[in-house]
Amino acid sequence: NQKVTVLDIDFDNVTQDDLVDQLNQCIHSKQKIFVVTANPEIVMYANQNPDYMDILRKADYITADGIGIVKGARILGTPIVERVAGYDLMLELLKKADQFKYSMYLVGAKEEVIVKAVKKIKKEYPNITLKGYHNGYFKLSDKEVMGKVLQAQTDIVFVGLGFPKQEKWIQNYLDQAPKGLVMGVGGSFDAFTG
Ligand code: UDP
Repeated sequence: NQKVTVLDIDFDNVTQDDLVDQLNQCIHSKQKIFVVTANPEIVMYANQNPDYMDILRKADYITADGIGIVKGARILGTPIVERVAGYDLMLELLKKADQFKYSMYLVGAKEEVIVKAVKKIKKEYPNITLKGYHNGYFKLSDKEVMGKVLQAQTDIVFVGLGFPKQEKWIQNYLDQAPKGLVMGVGGSFDAFTG
């Protein structure tokens, strides 16, 4: 995709539909992909924290998750076609996962929230192989959760620990995982079950 740089972040200039198709292709061909849906808070935080910016630079896809970013890009004379929000992208990927019977792991949110999310996915997306889940209240140094997710080797891992924790966890995961799409979803499990 063509990239549009706003506040030092290289955004993918792509519609949500096209992105979903591209990501689906990547999953299908067993690639390892890191997706960031960068909202304004993430963009500002990255500009103040070089270590976090370094993690974002490892992303294969970065979407503009905020109308302010889309407007900013237009003002800079390098428009971005549309906003692609993390929650919306998660829902589209759930649909694809159901359609193509992908395997999945969920990490993040409070225990009751993630349990509810698992139930809802099993009911509404019955063809997804949900290999496991874990709430988001563990230390980043915890090797047990990481070990379980790595062992499962799922096609998709959604990580809802909030930023910057989720990207730090994802970086560690990517260093060890052979394949799969990994995406930080912030508070999307709460929205999904709320
Ligand atoms: N969370 C978590 N572990 C933590 C801190 C937060 O799992 O140590 C979860 C929290 O329960 C919520 C999400 O991370 O589901 C953060 O949501 P928020 O809307 O604050 O984050 P954002 O979407 O802005 O990244």
